[in-house]
Amino acid sequence: MASRGVSPAIFGKEGTRVLQNRSLDGRNRIYVDLDDVLAETARMFLDLLEREFGRRVEYEAVVAYDLGRSLDLDQDELDEFMVAVHRSEALLSIKPMQGAIDALEVWVEAGYIIEVVTGRPTMTAEVSQEWLDTAGVPHDALTFVDKYAWKKNVFAGNSALPLHELPESGYCLAVEDSASVASRLAMHMDAAVVLIDKPWNRDELVENDHEEGRITRCMDWEDISERFCLP
Ligand SMILES: [Mg+2]
Repeated sequence: MASRGVSPAIFGKEGTRVLQNRSLDGRNRIYVDLDDVLAETARMFLDLLEREFGRRVEYEAVVAYDLGRSLDLDQDELDEFMVAVHRSEALLSIKPMQGAIDALEVWVEAGYIIEVVTGRPTMTAEVSQEWLDTAGVPHDALTFVDKYAWKKNVFAGNSALPLHELPESGYCLAVEDSASVASRLAMHMDAAVVLIDKPWNRDELVENDHEEGRITRCMDWEDISERFCLP
């Protein structure tokens, strides 16, 4: 249990004390990713790409998690694009994903703790919290985890929690859209892991994860709710 070092990366409504106490019994906590799980982030990315970069890419054509590849941007363009999509007004314009809020409300009603675990750079903490509140996403905490090694690019200095410091037995379920993060979670945690189906994760799952039954691909939030009504 990696409670040590957790608190600096947690921005909880109830504060870190409550979350850490709850993590002692642990098993009622659900990890829910933010972008492209709770929020239609990729659709905002594509709208902004067309509006500000004059390039139109269809949603179904985003077949790689690597945006440089999927959007055909070189490193300088990609850096500029990443700064643009992380502006507050861009992040606040993202629509909630259909069915997500209803599904979370059912879990909350059943006594589960919802922890939004995002790989966004920590500089977006305030605007990310504002988005969750404005959208009415029920949650107990917002945690920043270094899923994508931001230090290698324009968001150097990011102070998010390393993924391996998430508690191994702290969650009963994790919901992700990144196949590589889902695989790492399945290896690190004893939680069930849901991979929500997206064009960019269809070819990317490690077969062993399926064999161990740790990762379940779900088509959308309705599908998740049906399969994990009481995780
Ligand atoms: Mg995501």
